[in-house]
Amino acid sequence: MFKKILVANRGEIAVRIIRACKELGIESVAVYSTADKNSIHTSLADLSICIGPPPPNKSYLNINNIISAALVTNCDALHPGYGFLAENPSFEENCSDNDITFIGPPSDAISLSGNKSMAIEVMKKHKIPVIPGSSGNVENLRQALNISRKLGYPVIIKASFGGGGKGMRICRHSHDLESLFSLAKSESLSSFGKSEVYIEKYIQKPRHIEFQIIADNYGNISCAGERECSIQRRHQKLIEEAPAARLSQKTRRVIKEYAVRAARAINYKNLGTIEFLVDENENFYFIEINSRIQVEHPVTEMVTGIDLIKEQIKIASGERNAFTGRDILASGNAIEFRINAEDSENNFAPSPGKITDCFLPGGPGIRVDTFIHSNYIVPPFYDSLIAKLIVWANSRDEAISRASRALSEFRIEGIKTTIPFHKKIISNENFKAGKIHTHFIEEEFAL
Ligand code: ADP
Repeated sequence: MFKKILVANRGEIAVRIIRACKELGIESVAVYSTADKNSIHTSLADLSICIGPPPPNKSYLNINNIISAALVTNCDALHPGYGFLAENPSFEENCSDNDITFIGPPSDAISLSGNKSMAIEVMKKHKIPVIPGSSGNVENLRQALNISRKLGYPVIIKASFGGGGKGMRICRHSHDLESLFSLAKSESLSSFGKSEVYIEKYIQKPRHIEFQIIADNYGNISCAGERECSIQRRHQKLIEEAPAARLSQKTRRVIKEYAVRAARAINYKNLGTIEFLVDENENFYFIEINSRIQVEHPVTEMVTGIDLIKEQIKIASGERNAFTGRDILASGNAIEFRINAEDSENNFAPSPGKITDCFLPGGPGIRVDTFIHSNYIVPPFYDSLIAKLIVWANSRDEAISRASRALSEFRIEGIKTTIPFHKKIISNENFKAGKIHTHFIEEEFAL
């Protein structure tokens, strides 16, 4: 087992990883930008080290500074968390060049997962259902027009190297394709540094259901069930739950098998997520692989009892998959609410600043993953996620009433958050009935 792990991240996920290290008896090293000098992850870790000024490209994205921090502190492993460098294959290579174990998949699996259009082609070869689409990147407008005509409108233009719900454009009519195609390409270039795009048939009102994979270094692959992430705003997840709200046992079992097959097809190692869209008739389609721990991993932890971060660490250290040959069962229902420092009454505008007072909910079935406290100043430089409220109960109905109770206790003063919006969602009758899809927020709240 590792002796010392460098946690190459900040915020709630850095705290989460440091906690897992402590429970495993492993020392942890936090890194921080000058904006995060007093952030709680720096004091929870055994050691902390400054890696640069606030802008992410000078600190949390600065590979040289992070690797140097790991070397001077004698770390034998590094956990990337999510975001920042977690899906950067050269980061993994830099770690291994310096004899630091990267807690995640090898660089070839990261590269393939990051190239969405190529991953889809690989899945097709392995007979995994995918959305009808362009078979690779679309080079020019003529090709885009041809493919879209064959697929039938609406279509969706997607950045091949995209992520985080960015770089996607829905095109409903051929006369809009020219402008949307060039917009998608330039957006993709500015956000991801690569202009490649591909085109898929646009699925009407799908549900986003993803499956958690656990794979060791010896080819033992298990699936820890699914998470439903259909409550999204502008393709970004806001609420996630496990198990999926309304999914037949048969479809669940079948997709689970495909998810394991997908992981095997690319010789996947460590933890990963295989994402699918599921339509109204429970037809399902692979969309992408996420080669890291997901923000929403706690809902799986709550229903399975598995500590996924500890599993990542154990597998990276060479341990065998502890779940080989047995079914991982889900008990009860868990729902996660992303609490963002955003003003949900004002087009979700970022709301950094000082938290003048704060009270975190507790009681049965409540978990809050966060790094905030009274007098904490939310810096303006990073992702707006400041806390995750996760509720667990014996049934979905009970989880919703528990969530309602917890959200009403949750108090964050001084800045605006998404808490008021979550309260509205959980009192919505269609949400309560599990009648959810990726356009739910748009339809119910005209947002
Ligand atoms: P990202 O990597 O940016 O998260 P994904 O490919 O995972 O992108 O898609 C994010 C979301 O965008 C999905 O959950 C879904 O809401 C929407 N989406 C993506 N592809 C399609 C499609 N072909 N039809 C309908 N919605 C889609």
